[in-house]
Amino acid sequence: MARYIGPVCRLCRREGKKLYLKGDRCQTAKCAVERRSYPPGQHGQAGTRKLSTYGVQLREKQRAKRIYGLLERQFRRCFQTADRLRGVTGTVLMQLLERRLDNIVYRLGFAPSRRAARQLVRHGHILVNGKKVDIPSYRLSVGEEVSIEEKLRQTKNVLASIEQMDKTGRVPWLEYIPEMFKGKITTIPAREDIPSDIQEQIIIELYSK
Ligand code: SF4
Repeated sequence: MARYIGPVCRLCRREGKKLYLKGDRCQTAKCAVERRSYPPGQHGQAGTRKLSTYGVQLREKQRAKRIYGLLERQFRRCFQTADRLRGVTGTVLMQLLERRLDNIVYRLGFAPSRRAARQLVRHGHILVNGKKVDIPSYRLSVGEEVSIEEKLRQTKNVLASIEQMDKTGRVPWLEYIPEMFKGKITTIPAREDIPSDIQEQIIIELYSK
């Protein structure tokens, strides 16, 4: 599946908010949003115009896509699936996004960002129920176990990332077993248990037009 391969910080600058796409760098003064807090491009410094209702909806959808690292077609398909399933469409959409394998690898702390987590998955370093799965969009079900390949467990990057996640704390719907470098989803998360400021209702309004 295709993915965005352009400059990453540009995406945050476009949204005018930190999207935390680069891991540790996002917490430092090197963050591009801190250094250049205006949109990218030739007219970026010309001042911002008031957004229309459509503009607000579009920006929120773009922001969500960028946070989870999806392109338009994949994101829209995710919405269509959420729309078909029972429940509040916005909440189901968030649950589907959160259950992606790359997101779970990030939430468990094996990688400092979703992008880095995606790379771990694509390179075959992640196991689901003991078997290699290299599809970042793989949707995990309750009870499925995610672990990292044994040879990577003592590497500096993985250990630093896990330590960082130990400090910030994991989401309550994931159970992590540190000695086995393994975690699993214990329940489908409620919306309030998903730490995200995305206003999914606005996205639903956009797609429902
Ligand atoms: Fe976004 Fe992180 Fe780049 Fe800052 S450093 S602009 S938060 S990706």
